[in-house]
Amino acid sequence: VAPAPTVVLQSRFARELPEMAVPWQAAEAPDPRLLVLNEPLAAELGLDPAALRSDEGVRLLVGTAVPGGATPVAQAYAGHQFGGFNPRLGDGRALLLGELTGADGRLRDLHLKGSGRTPFARGGDGLAAVGPMLREYVVSEAMHGLGIPTTRSLAVVATGRPVRRETVLPGAVLARVASSHLRVGSFQYARATGDLDLLRRLTDVAIARHHPAAADAERPALALFEAVVAAQASLVARWMLVGFVHGVMNTDNSTISGETIDYGPCAFLDAFDPATVYSSIDTGGRYAYGNQPVVAEWNLARLAEALLPLVDEDQEQAIARAVESLGGFRERYDAAWSAGMRAKLGLPADLDEAVASPLVDELLGLLQADHVDGTSFFRRLAGAARGDAEPARLLFLDLAGFDGWLARWRALAPDAEAMDRVNPVYIARNHLVEEALSAGTDGDLDPLHRLLAVLADPFVERPGRERYAEPAPADFGAYRTFC
Ligand code: AMP
Ligand code: MG
Ligand code: MG
Repeated sequence: VAPAPTVVLQSRFARELPEMAVPWQAAEAPDPRLLVLNEPLAAELGLDPAALRSDEGVRLLVGTAVPGGATPVAQAYAGHQFGGFNPRLGDGRALLLGELTGADGRLRDLHLKGSGRTPFARGGDGLAAVGPMLREYVVSEAMHGLGIPTTRSLAVVATGRPVRRETVLPGAVLARVASSHLRVGSFQYARATGDLDLLRRLTDVAIARHHPAAADAERPALALFEAVVAAQASLVARWMLVGFVHGVMNTDNSTISGETIDYGPCAFLDAFDPATVYSSIDTGGRYAYGNQPVVAEWNLARLAEALLPLVDEDQEQAIARAVESLGGFRERYDAAWSAGMRAKLGLPADLDEAVASPLVDELLGLLQADHVDGTSFFRRLAGAARGDAEPARLLFLDLAGFDGWLARWRALAPDAEAMDRVNPVYIARNHLVEEALSAGTDGDLDPLHRLLAVLADPFVERPGRERYAEPAPADFGAYRTFC
């Protein structure tokens, strides 16, 4: 008999911000079965994988066994959803089990999604289906493999409870780990209550947990804001450089830590096009690939509004200061994106902007015009730096246009090895994710494990895994995501 896991959970959020925490318990799971466990992550957290696989461990991962001393809570938050403000969203189908200190000494949230209705559930059933929880698992682990800040996925447990969507689907709970679940919407919630003491405590908690240097600033709330601006600018630049479309960048899905959170209708681009939208509910294209930097900046403006009372006693001054700090977003985003794009092209970081910028713009125009798969292109381009441009060239229709660009780029002596370190061979391609999810829903987890294996180290080309590097076959059609 495997030993029960020893999981020591703190209840910091529940203790420090009780106004934003509703003690709650997970719904019963009639027949819990572990579908996938992230053993390396378990080890990082100082948890014994064998113990997590035990009956008691699986009950812990599905929320029906609570470690002694823990206080699971549903977190309250507000949020702008597609631009409309809702002062009371909160975890409708999720629970914060508590915080744990990993083997590395870092504090993380252990959180469940799909664990049943809470007082914030509104019309929702509180449940999640196996497919979407496996999707969050695989895409968040893909992001982690790419080195992009993200929440992590510890496990998906099938509950044995059916979930009614368009059809009846098997239910599941995702166990997720985050450096915290504080979001822009957490601050909007505290602000909307009108309780300044709560807003102050929330700010202190966020500073201590994520941006401790802000505590020593003359204006800690403003310094916190600037730190979040920097973290989000860097994060969204990383998304853009790999072609990630989050799909639902509501303010409640925008973290204070700068981690990617809440993988719903997300997807990776194949054909490069800024107007790309995958989500079936994003009918206006608000969260299109190319809009993401503007939306992140908009979300940060909402954070600034929430923080205003703490920025300066004089509210006009507070606004002026916040506007100035928000101005740092564009600067930081542009710098991160340009540096990242130069790295993708194997060009020196100190290359003259007057040379780099038109070169990049022209390339993006060519990629868009010919619907080129960006991931394949950047990887093949390293081959062109080594002398064989043909594989990259084959991706274009406008050969004269590409040849002209190529000659100018080659003249800058690009570094192929450096390119291979930043341009992934493997991303969580939509058709591969769908294949893994549909097999997983039917009980076959092998495709998921094969996909996870290449995504764990996406910069290393694996013999025999060529199909994982290819874009979707033509008959895959236009991709739509649902959440
Ligand atoms: P999301 O778009 O996943 O970030 O969710 C937005 C809000 O809807 C959050 O308050 C969620 O907790 C809530 N929500 C989403 N799906 C459900 C569900 N099936 N049952 C209850 N609440 C849900
Ligand atoms: Mg959310
Ligand atoms: Mg969601």
